[in-house]
Amino acid sequence: MTQNSTKLSLTLKIFIGMLAGIVTGALLQAIFDDSGDRVFNLLGMQVSTYGIFVEGIFNVGGTIFINSLKMLVVPLVFVSLVCGTSSLSDPSKLGSLGGKSVGLYVLTTCIAVSAAMIIALIVQPGAGFTQPATTDFVAKESPGLAQVIINMFPSNPINSMAEGNMLQIIVFAVLFGVAISMAGEHGKRISSFFNDVNEVIMKIVLIIMNLAPYGVYFLMAKLASTINLMDIGAIAKYFFLVFFVLIAHALITYPILLKVFTGLNPIKLLIKMKDTAIFAFSSSSSSATLPITMSTARNKLGVNRSVSSFTIPLGATINMDGTAIMQGIATVFIAQVYMVDLSTVDLLMVVLTATLASIGTAGVPGVGLIMLAMVLQQVNLPVEGIALIIGIDRLLDMTRTVVNVTGDCTVACIVANSEKELDTDVFNDMNIDKKA
Ligand code: ASP
Repeated sequence: MTQNSTKLSLTLKIFIGMLAGIVTGALLQAIFDDSGDRVFNLLGMQVSTYGIFVEGIFNVGGTIFINSLKMLVVPLVFVSLVCGTSSLSDPSKLGSLGGKSVGLYVLTTCIAVSAAMIIALIVQPGAGFTQPATTDFVAKESPGLAQVIINMFPSNPINSMAEGNMLQIIVFAVLFGVAISMAGEHGKRISSFFNDVNEVIMKIVLIIMNLAPYGVYFLMAKLASTINLMDIGAIAKYFFLVFFVLIAHALITYPILLKVFTGLNPIKLLIKMKDTAIFAFSSSSSSATLPITMSTARNKLGVNRSVSSFTIPLGATINMDGTAIMQGIATVFIAQVYMVDLSTVDLLMVVLTATLASIGTAGVPGVGLIMLAMVLQQVNLPVEGIALIIGIDRLLDMTRTVVNVTGDCTVACIVANSEKELDTDVFNDMNIDKKA
């Protein structure tokens, strides 16, 4: 009973941390505005209250929290994927598992970006908007399909881990796990070692989750004390359109897909996503949220480890529907501002580039804008257009990261269900939080 109430209160504590952070930040912004920032002399040094709170306490606390989550990503993905693949009764299942996961991720991204562009073409967020824009953004070449495939195979797995290259880590871990299952007695010993390590890593995830209320507080306080909501005013139509399509994708597209493919109740999935959503929202990074997403998929949604350890890290890298939605709308918006007509071929090019770009790019804050630069370049739109939307991108980044992780969990449930690796009792149990 005591344990139950402690578990229950963690979600509540994280939520309170988030709200308290927003209130603190908003108050500080109100005080700091109009040079409310106080500079005083501390032991002979000039210190400002802004420096102490925003750049000091909030920044240090928030960064330590994010780094602690990121610290776990490589060991967690590697170890749990080795455990997951080595425990597969039939390793040839990996082919269908991989095919279904990649297929669904690409499908949802294509739906996201196409729907976003169609809605933007109807609503016309950039019509009648003229604003000269400048930016330092330099567009990188979008990766070709051949390069994306070549880049998945590591020449040096230690280097892949050092760089956190998720796709390369996945390929190596899968191979390692399959080899373990083929190695008889030797394999069994290694496999039990990895299972023990996995349990230990999950304990670290638990420790960090317990610190989440504070981490989330610092992150939100820093954000709320620095963000300028007035910036939304000028491009409110773009902002709210992206926001609306993001919410619609999470609340309509995913539930429909889940219902059609599995018959399960999508509301349950959405409710069980709440912790993961708060992490994604406050960190703006699906990579940093990965430990939490994996634990939600496994412990709350009932996705067996053999599927969750593969599909969730894969999704954190290649599945960015929220980001694709922003890119689709931003491209149409910038084309309208610069009065460029996009042909059907251009629109298809946007779908293709946005999908390919999301496959080769890990989910970290702000990466969506870098991918947008590739897309704009591909259809010959001025990359300077990004300057129009950069000011308010942080808020949209937070929201689209929530959509990205919700997509990862939805696809994981669909794939697990089709592979008979979904524990529907766990999925349907709304008290699982308390039991875990
Ligand atoms: N922050 C997003 C993520 O990590 C990526 C983006 O849209 O910038 O999923």
